[in-house]
Amino acid sequence: MKITFWGAAQQVTGSMHLVELEGGTKVLVDCGLDYENRREFEANNAHFPFPATEIDILILTHAHIDHSGNVPNLIKQGFTGQIVCSAPTLELSDFLLQDSLNIQLMDIRKKRKQYYKNKKKKKVKGAAPQALYTKKHIGFMLDMANVLMPGETFEYNDELKIRLTPAGHILGAMSAELEVKENGETKKLGFTGDLGNLNSKLVPDPTPMRGLNALVSESTYGGRKHGTDSRKAEEVLLEQVVDTCVEREGKLVIPAFSVGRTQAILFTLHQLYIDGKLPNIKIFTDSPLAIRSTKVYQYHIDYLNDEAKEFHKKHGSLFNFPNLHVVQDERESEYLSVLPEPCVIVSAAGMVEGGRIQMHVRNNIGHPNNSILIAGFCAEGTLGDRLLKGQDFVEIDRRERPVKAKVSRTDVFSAHPDHQQLLDYFKASNESGSLKKLFLVHGEAGQMQRLADDVGGIEEVQTPLKGQSFIV
Ligand SMILES: [Zn+2]
Repeated sequence: MKITFWGAAQQVTGSMHLVELEGGTKVLVDCGLDYENRREFEANNAHFPFPATEIDILILTHAHIDHSGNVPNLIKQGFTGQIVCSAPTLELSDFLLQDSLNIQLMDIRKKRKQYYKNKKKKKVKGAAPQALYTKKHIGFMLDMANVLMPGETFEYNDELKIRLTPAGHILGAMSAELEVKENGETKKLGFTGDLGNLNSKLVPDPTPMRGLNALVSESTYGGRKHGTDSRKAEEVLLEQVVDTCVEREGKLVIPAFSVGRTQAILFTLHQLYIDGKLPNIKIFTDSPLAIRSTKVYQYHIDYLNDEAKEFHKKHGSLFNFPNLHVVQDERESEYLSVLPEPCVIVSAAGMVEGGRIQMHVRNNIGHPNNSILIAGFCAEGTLGDRLLKGQDFVEIDRRERPVKAKVSRTDVFSAHPDHQQLLDYFKASNESGSLKKLFLVHGEAGQMQRLADDVGGIEEVQTPLKGQSFIV
C-alpha cells in the first residue's frame, strides 16, 4: 500500500493522509482545514490534490477543525463514500463545522465588497469569492456516516478492515487501525489522530494499537515537556480562585477552547464544589459553542474515563452545580465583562484570538486585582502568546493597553502528550517488535526532528513533506 501525506506535514494544521491499497481501495484519514497561513487559506483548501470522487472511505479521527474542517468541501467536490468515525465525533463535527462556515462567511463578506468594487473598475476577473462549502454539505455528512464503537472491527471488503481505538484528547477522539490484506500478507497500519495527555480530566488515556507494522503519529508536543507542576488540576484551579477571587476580590478570566478544555475546567470546578472547597463565588461559562459541546459530553458518558463515569453516577451530572451560570447571549456577555464582583469567567477561544474572550481580557486586563490564566498552547503572535511573554502593554482592538492583571499559565489541562509520553506510547505500540516504520506528522519541523532523534527501536523514522509518498 502507498501512503501520501497531503496535510499536517511538518506543520500542525490540515491533517489529511491518503492510503491507496493494491486492490484499488482508497482511504483518506482526516480531511482538515489548513490554516497555517491565513493569506493562503483559499489556495491551500479549495482544491484537493486527488479526485474527491475516487475516495472510498474517509476516517475521521476527531472533530477538531484541523482534522474535519474540509470534509464538506470533499463532499461538494464529489466524495460519495462512507465516513467512519465515533458517535461523539459526528455530533461535535456538525456544529464545529457550522461555526467554521460562519467564520468563513464573515471573511467572504469583506472580500466580496472589495471584489465588487474592483469589478466596477474592471480590475478583477473571474467569479466572486465564496466559502469552501455550504450548510447543505455539512448535512450530507450525517447520511454518509458509519459510526463505529471503540474496539469494533468494520470489514469494508476483502482487503481492508478498520478498527477505532480511544485516543484521549477530546470526547470521541479515536486512533485508527487499518488491517490490510495484500498479496497473501496481512499488514497493519495505525494512525494516532491527536492523542491526549495522560491523566486528563474527563477523557481516558490513549490506548496504544498493538501489532502494527507502520504508525503515523502526531507530534504536537515533540521536544517539549509539560510543566514541572505535578499538582492535580483541582489544586491548581483552587489556588487561582482563592488568590484572585477571595484574597484580591478580583476576577479570574480563563481562555479555553470550546471543545475539551472548557469541559475539563468546569468539571474540575464542580469537583471542588462537591468537595466543599470552592469559595462561594459565581462561575460563568461564556461561549455558545462550549454550551453545545458540553451537552454532547453529557450524552456520551460511555466515552469518558472512570473518574468522570463514577462522578456522574454519584452526582447525576458532570457540569451542573449552583455556582455555575451559563451566559446565553451577547448582551449578557457584555454585562458580565464589566461586572464589579469577584467571579470566574471561562470563555473561548484558548489563544485569546477573537471571540468573547477578547472582550473579557480587554475589560479586565487593566486592574491588578484580576488574573488571566492561560491553560493551553498559544501559537506565536496570538494575544495569548503576547500575554505570556510578560509585556507591560499589549495591543487589543488596535489600542495599546497596560497589563496590570496577573498573567499565569498551567499545563494541567493540556490536551496532547509531551515528548516523553510520545516516546512511551511508541514503545508500547512496538511491544511485539513488529513496528518498522514511524511517520511523524502534526508538529513543527524542528520539534518533530528532536522527537525523531530520540525514538529508539524502530528501523525507519520519517518526517514527511507535503505530497511525499511511501510504500508500506
Ligand atoms: Zn485535535
